[in-house]
Amino acid sequence: MKAAVVRAFGEPLVIEDRPDPDPGPGQVRVRLEASGLCHTDIHAAHGDWPVRPTLPFVPGHEGVGLVEELGEGVTHLAVGQRVAVPWLGTACGRCEHCLSGWETLCEQQVNTGYGCDGGYAEKMLARADFAQPVPDGVSAFDAAPLTCAGVTTYKALKVAGVRPAQLVAVSGVGGLGHLAVQYAKIAGATVAAVDVTDDKLELARELGADIVVDARRQDVGAELKKHGGAHAAIALAVNPAAFEAVNSGLRRGGKLVMVALPAHGSIQVPIFDTVLNGTSVIGSIVGTRQDLAEVFRLHADGRTKVIYETRPLAAVNDCVDEVLRGQVKARIVFDLGAQA
Ligand code: NAD
Ligand code: ZN
Ligand code: ZN
Repeated sequence: MKAAVVRAFGEPLVIEDRPDPDPGPGQVRVRLEASGLCHTDIHAAHGDWPVRPTLPFVPGHEGVGLVEELGEGVTHLAVGQRVAVPWLGTACGRCEHCLSGWETLCEQQVNTGYGCDGGYAEKMLARADFAQPVPDGVSAFDAAPLTCAGVTTYKALKVAGVRPAQLVAVSGVGGLGHLAVQYAKIAGATVAAVDVTDDKLELARELGADIVVDARRQDVGAELKKHGGAHAAIALAVNPAAFEAVNSGLRRGGKLVMVALPAHGSIQVPIFDTVLNGTSVIGSIVGTRQDLAEVFRLHADGRTKVIYETRPLAAVNDCVDEVLRGQVKARIVFDLGAQA
């Protein structure tokens, strides 16, 4: 099977031929149909974050495909069934976080495409209990971006406790943001979308954004304040200055939800304003298996639209450049050629 491998941080990925991996107890082998390119994969390949993956590794945590072989003891999945393999590759199931519905905070978790090989490959292994069945009627190409971009923004809105009649600012209308706009609308909010490219602002409008703010030309905080300020701001742009800009547009009691992970990122949070205005800064990391099941259900029910462009895996390095230049409409999904 072919896989795109990171051999050195910051170097182009290398396409390699590898033997098909054998599923161990509790694992399945998945023949991938589609695999999304999340900006996180670029951070992983560049070694951007304090904890780096062990080289060499195969990135990718939006892999969707068909179960090809069951490891020992796997009884709840069937060969031929479509599954998605998310960032949360496994968690311990026993700790305080796992037991309280916060498996995404488990300290024993292993992350797909970071702590173990991911979905930039024709085949991959997955822990069966964390491979998410994809409902009938949801294509592999739609399911792929939902597996990280979808579940992460769906969860961020839950974390913010968004309610109808609130104003939600979505900062960055990329892979994550184009779904965040839709979940905020589903929650009943008025949505202000912020970006720095005309295409993304137009896409945000098409997907239901009520207000668009061009951060190149407009003062983001002042624009949001014209509408009373945001109850929640979802920070998805890979740029600390964008976090500060949207934070300045919160209304009293508003919440900044940090989701994007720029390298060496930190922001200034003014103490006086935060105290007097009673605002919060919250981090939000992907979502649980239950959150992903809900994201797939919404999509199967026709409530969301996934915008993607397909590419061959061999084009992986050009695709990384396209994402970094902001030229992708929303998400790139590798077409891995497996037939349903
Ligand atoms: P993306 O590149 O597809 O989207 C980023 C968007 O931000 C683009 O539309 C870009 O035009 C826009 N942008 C750039 N500068 C801006 C600015 N100053 N103001 C407003 N918008 C601006 O990336 P993505 O795949 O959506 O990922 C976004 C970030 O979220 C990455 O850092 C990724 O690692 C992170 N992420 C976090 C989680 C989590 O669980 N917390 C999960 C997935 C991804
Ligand atoms: Zn745990
Ligand atoms: Zn991701």
